[in-house]
Amino acid sequence: MSENVTPTPEGTSLCQAGSKTDHPCWRETTTTYNGTPYCGEHVRLFEIGEEEDGWTYALRSVEEWFSGPVEEDQWGQFERLAWRVREEVRREYAQVSARAYAAKMLADQGPSESGEPTLTPEQGEELARLMIRADSFNDARTTLEDAPADVVKMRNKWVVIDALVVAHEEANKKFADYKEELGL
Ligand SMILES: [Zn+2]
Repeated sequence: MSENVTPTPEGTSLCQAGSKTDHPCWRETTTTYNGTPYCGEHVRLFEIGEEEDGWTYALRSVEEWFSGPVEEDQWGQFERLAWRVREEVRREYAQVSARAYAAKMLADQGPSESGEPTLTPEQGEELARLMIRADSFNDARTTLEDAPADVVKMRNKWVVIDALVVAHEEANKKFADYKEELGL
């Protein structure tokens, strides 16, 4: 929990996310963020958003670094180190992007038919994460299939596509298994 978040008594009011729009949040307030009351799902979304901003900055800085001092390194030691840093930053950025996507999906979700939450926030996030992962393998496959040969300079494009098909099937299976485990 960041310093922006302070607890408020449960059920005191409705979450203020989207309160000035046609689609206000339907959940009750559990915490405040920068002094405004929100539900846990929206606070989580804001917190991940802050983290995402940090990694966006890190990624932009590392790419700028590459087009400057790293490119000028004629000996190679600095370049080797920089590659490692860039790889780590790209990995972290991808991870936080996936978490932010899952958190947004969860926060945007409407009430269940009974009006009661059926999943814990952790379960919801895990379910969204698994679904997004399965979809992403499929998106990557179709993007690669349609990409013109002069754009994708990949010698073994169809081998990669096959790997993505298998990964999609496996991810879909994991998603279905988890859904079953939750009784959905
Ligand atoms: Zn909310």
